[in-house]
This record gives sequence, C-alpha cells and structure tokens, in this order.
Amino acid sequence: MKVGSLFGIAITVNVSWIFIFALVTWGLANPMGPLHLEGVGTAERIALGLSAALLFFASVLVHELAHSLLARRRGIAVKGITLFIFGGVSQFDGEAQDAPGEAWISGIGPLTSLLLGGLFYGASLAVGGSATHTGAMFAYLGIANVLLAIFNILPAYPLDGGRVMHALVWKFSGNKALATRVTVLVGRVLAALMIGYGVVESLAFGNFGGLWLTFVGWFLLQAGSSEQSGLAVKEALQDHRAGELAAPPEFRLAADASAARARGAMRAMGVRALPVFVGEHFVGIVTSAELNALSEDDLAGTYVTAVMTREPDVPRIAAAAPANDAVATLASSGGDALAVTGDGGDVLGLFTRESVVRWLAGALK
Ligand SMILES: [Zn+2]
Repeated sequence: MKVGSLFGIAITVNVSWIFIFALVTWGLANPMGPLHLEGVGTAERIALGLSAALLFFASVLVHELAHSLLARRRGIAVKGITLFIFGGVSQFDGEAQDAPGEAWISGIGPLTSLLLGGLFYGASLAVGGSATHTGAMFAYLGIANVLLAIFNILPAYPLDGGRVMHALVWKFSGNKALATRVTVLVGRVLAALMIGYGVVESLAFGNFGGLWLTFVGWFLLQAGSSEQSGLAVKEALQDHRAGELAAPPEFRLAADASAARARGAMRAMGVRALPVFVGEHFVGIVTSAELNALSEDDLAGTYVTAVMTREPDVPRIAAAAPANDAVATLASSGGDALAVTGDGGDVLGLFTRESVVRWLAGALK
C-alpha cells in the first residue's frame, strides 16, 4: 500500500511491515525487553516502543532514499521505494552504466545506516546514555542501524554488498559477465554457510536462534537465483539490438482480416500479438487479449481493425536501440508489444515477450 511520497519518489509499504512494526513495538515496550523498562508505566513503555519502531522505520526509509537520490543524480529514473520485511528496495528504471556508479549507488545505503548508527549513539550520549530510558532507546536504534549496515553489506545478491562486490570485480577484471558469475557464486557459498551453521547450531547445540540464520540464508539463496536468471537474460541480450529480437516481418495481418482469422494466425505462429498492414502501410497491432474480449459469435464478423490498438497509440522502439532498452520499454509500457521501426520510421516487426524467448532459445543453443 502506498503511504506517500518524498522528493517525488513514491513510498510503498509491504504488509509484512505491519508485523515488523507490531513486533518491534511489542519487543521494545516489554518490561523484560532490551530497554530494561522494569517498573515503568504502561503508557510510557508503549510510547517508547512506538517511538523506537517509528524511528527504525524512518532509518530504513533514509537508507533507501540515499540509494534513490544518488541513482537519480546519476541519471537513473527512480520508480519508487518499497519497504518490506528485510528492509526496503528501491526500484530503478535502468541501471548504473559503469562500475563506480554501481558501487556508489549500492554502497551509499550501508554507509548511510552506519552514519545513522553514529548519530543515534551520539543522541543517546547527549540525553544521558543508557541510564535514561530515552538514552537506552537511542542506543538500541544505534545498534539496529549498525546491524542493518552489516547485514546489507554481506556480499550476496540482492543485498547492497552483492552489488558492491559485482562493481569491484567488474572494475578490476573489466569483465561484467565474470563479475556476475563471481558474485552469484560467493552469494551461494555465503548462503549455504549460513544455512549450515544455523542447522548445526540448532540441532547440535539446541540453540534455536540459529534457525533465524538458516531462514536468512534460504532467503538469500532464493533471491540470488531469481536475480541470476534476470542477469543471465540481460547478459545474453547485451550487445544485441531490438531489431534482431523482433518477430520477423512475415508475421503480419492484412487490415481486411477477420478477428477469427487473426486468432487462427496467432495460434499457428505461437504469438500473442500481430502487426496489421494495409499494403505496406502499418496501421496498428492486434493482441490475443483484444481478441479474447470478443464473443465466439462476433469473431467471424469483426475486422481486426475494429479491435486493434491503432498506430498513433502503439509504443515504438528503433530497431537500432539496445535490446535491453526494448525490454525495459516493453515492461514500462504495460502492453504486450512494441512496434520496431527502421531508420525511415517504417515498422519492421514486433518486439514481444515471445519474440525475446524465441530469440533466446536460438541464441542459447
Ligand atoms: Zn540498501
């Protein structure tokens, strides 16, 4: 759910945060908790717990804002910030073009958390240190921010440390693909060590706190492999152009085709979108979603031109544009297809998810 925006960046909170928020408040307000609130009134305990939870929430937000604002300064569009159970994620439209950019945009988060840790520690000292309840709360937030920094700098995808490590290996080897492989491998080894250590700790020594480590390791393993498949596609498309990945120009419909014929053609070709032409003149794109909106009876009696997306509304990409830009444009268009255009603006074919998969299947053979 969206909670607002800061510096023009939309802030969304995942439902998991409600649990974290309640847990942090409850844990800190507890008389036996880390703030040692024995003998303190209920109202004051709840006030301290809530303030600490709010400040912790604000700390994670500041960490993410640091990533987002630096990315924006380096020309990367920021789509928004989502706060979820392990902290937050900043969504970018695009990525750092060079290793120093990637290192700084990722590294600034943990650095910010470390700085916040220092500030909270200073605030704690200023109000009398751990001898006072407010001082103890600030000290606790200081430790929480330092732990947040340490956790995030672990060299595993999708944590900041994984990206910093990727940038460093990229910088010193000059090989981005090698950097990805090294980072994924180190992340896996680290995740496996965490899982193994957690299991041994809880089974052999009866310390079930170790299961937490197992859980985090498992999360890193999962997140790392989805990150890896995304990166593998990106790498495969690197140095290729949108035009190479487009469906071939013979995949097309004439404007006098019926919706029924369009559907038959899509099934035969295994595609979900086709360009529509009057002679050599491109007039629009028809998608299977648009055809599915028609009843069976209407299919035969409807021209594709009646249901298609017309030419002025069709998103376009130049054939010479990098293939990864086309993937990003397609994703942000929210549609099923981009018209791929030649130098003269003529439509050469369609760029769709299927056309990418088809090309990848050929490329990876
Ligand atoms: Zn971060």
